[in-house]
Amino acid sequence: MKQYWDCSLCRIEDKGKALRCRRCYGQLRGRDRLLHEIGRQRKTAPRAALLSALAAGAGQMLGGRWSTGIALAALIPLAVGLVIAGWGGFTYGHAFLAGGAGFVLAVAYLDARIGPQRKRPPCQETCPAGVAVPDYLQLLLDEEPQQGYSLIRSRIPMVGVIGRICPHPCETACLRGIDGEPVSINGCKRHLADLQRERSRVHAEQRRSVVDLRGGELSVGVVGSGPAGVACAYYLSVLGAAVTVYEADSVIGGRLATTIPDYRLPANILDEELEALRDGGVVFNPNTRVGPGGVPLAELRQDHDALFLAVGAEQAVSIAVPGGEGLRDFQELLRAAKLGHPVELGRSVVVIGGGNAAMDVSRTALRCGAEEVHLLYRRDRDQMPARADEVEEAAREGVQFHFLADLAEVLTRDGAVCGVRVQQMELGAPDASGRPRPLAVRGQIRELPADTVIPALGQEVGGSIFDDPALAGLRRETYGGVWVDPVYQRTNLAGIYAGGDAVSGAATAVQAMAHGRRAALGIFGDLAAAAVPASRLVDRLQRRPFRGHSETPQARIREEMPRLTLRARRGSFREVEEGFQQEGACREGGRCLQCHREL
Ligand SMILES: Cc1cc2nc3c(=O)[nH]c(=O)nc-3n(C[C@H](O)[C@H](O)[C@H](O)COP(=O)(O)OP(=O)(O)OC[C@H]3O[C@@H](n4cnc5c(N)ncnc54)[C@H](O)[C@@H]3O)c2cc1C
Ligand code: SF4
Repeated sequence: MKQYWDCSLCRIEDKGKALRCRRCYGQLRGRDRLLHEIGRQRKTAPRAALLSALAAGAGQMLGGRWSTGIALAALIPLAVGLVIAGWGGFTYGHAFLAGGAGFVLAVAYLDARIGPQRKRPPCQETCPAGVAVPDYLQLLLDEEPQQGYSLIRSRIPMVGVIGRICPHPCETACLRGIDGEPVSINGCKRHLADLQRERSRVHAEQRRSVVDLRGGELSVGVVGSGPAGVACAYYLSVLGAAVTVYEADSVIGGRLATTIPDYRLPANILDEELEALRDGGVVFNPNTRVGPGGVPLAELRQDHDALFLAVGAEQAVSIAVPGGEGLRDFQELLRAAKLGHPVELGRSVVVIGGGNAAMDVSRTALRCGAEEVHLLYRRDRDQMPARADEVEEAAREGVQFHFLADLAEVLTRDGAVCGVRVQQMELGAPDASGRPRPLAVRGQIRELPADTVIPALGQEVGGSIFDDPALAGLRRETYGGVWVDPVYQRTNLAGIYAGGDAVSGAATAVQAMAHGRRAALGIFGDLAAAAVPASRLVDRLQRRPFRGHSETPQARIREEMPRLTLRARRGSFREVEEGFQQEGACREGGRCLQCHREL
């Protein structure tokens, strides 16, 4: 049979069916792809498993895996045939054959329930959203950037945002890093998103709603418009539900809009990606707090079939020291800087913390006019939880690091902060976190002048919404996060789902988006089960022949992302990372080893 290479990642046997080939998961778009995923989990897999428990192999055949099905099916008659042929009274051999037949049925059941497993490369395995990394890198190389972009968007609704701010655990896991530098995966993702932005501008007139959502039969209310809420709203909208997002703040986007500084995530990138969601029919209600003092949750429960709580982790971790009333809230500072409000910090700023929030606060303070920024961290550099590249950039921009240093007291003169007392620390035996415990060195205290002192120690789950009577009985984890089932993000209260930082505690945007997507599939599957087909589609992802990776000494070195000069950064919130050009991105894509391919 003639074969054609018409579409992304797939080999299709019938020409002309390229875009609507019902037998090929790789070809499904948007809604169909999501329905297939829900249907496979909820209907196809349980049915196939039941069939295979009754007649080994039948479930595999239902899923189109004929050779596995026939092999399993043949084993039972073989066992029965052997029993009949050798029957002359019961023997241990017969018991063994009966046991063997039972074992085959059990294997067939489990195999049909789990389904065919593909080999996943470490990058994809580590990605909280499970994005098929090598596949989109290959599409980039094959000059099919739109397909690559769509592939990512099937898992992450805001590709341009994540391409800029993701801490990219995929790169830490990348096997290319064993002998050389890891592939710049996130840089390539961002490049695909940037190309798509350009394309959308050129074809602006072609922008249209994906589906008409208003009046959809399923109505869902999403509380919070951060990455978790936005992802849930997007995937539900693609599925055809009517979604309304309630946001307490005046701006939409959660931390992306109010906290992450412009030099890492420019506001226009977020705005454009949110606009695409509005085009998809999602309704956003800003300035609408849900819970005590706002719209009661019970009212929303009546208006919608289900609710998704994506309220984030709002409360800054506090610190108790003498003079603590003079401390500034790091969230307020980042918010003011992000929204372009005036920020007065004085000449010298002291920041406390060793995480990414502390890096953002320090770098923001420099941009807001502080002449000196001192960062105090209790442990040493190796234990800092902040990303290494963030620490490096902060140091290059002029942040002065004080390791093994803790805040002992905030000093004031005439009611105004004038300095801090700094306690010298040393490292002791590991604590519960596995890191060495910081211990105060007696008598070693020094003073530092400061006009502003800002602790940036992270955030915790909390907020007034948890006092709403409709959430009485909501199960919480010991760290304060909402308890959910890990597959579909259901809480213990009927019709209420939760995700993002509100569940995991302060984490990452990509993880919040993964929660949002899971909740969308869960809500739709739970409440619109009739609309979900019992999918008989088969995963027949046959990848294109790989053009080949040529190993050279240069292939071990990653492409450097162009960055804004240090001079241009002072006093400016212009984006620091400038993105790859096409050649740079393709060179990075070409360094991928495509680890999931069989040799
Ligand atoms: C300084 C800082 C830097 C960060 N940098 C990065 C980074 O570089 N990369 C990364 O991946 N992650 C980063 N993060 C973490 C990331 O921003 C969060 O993990 C992510 O935003 C969580 O998404 P979410 O949707 O759960 O919550 P959020 O983004 O916090 O959104 C929650 C939303 O719910 C709204 N809300 C709360 N209560 C109510 C209510 N009662 N009614 C209505 N609305 C309500 C809030 O106003 C908010 O808009 C950073 C976080 C901070 C603090
Ligand atoms: S080499 Fe490619 S496939 Fe392998 S882990 Fe790195 S990005 Fe993933």
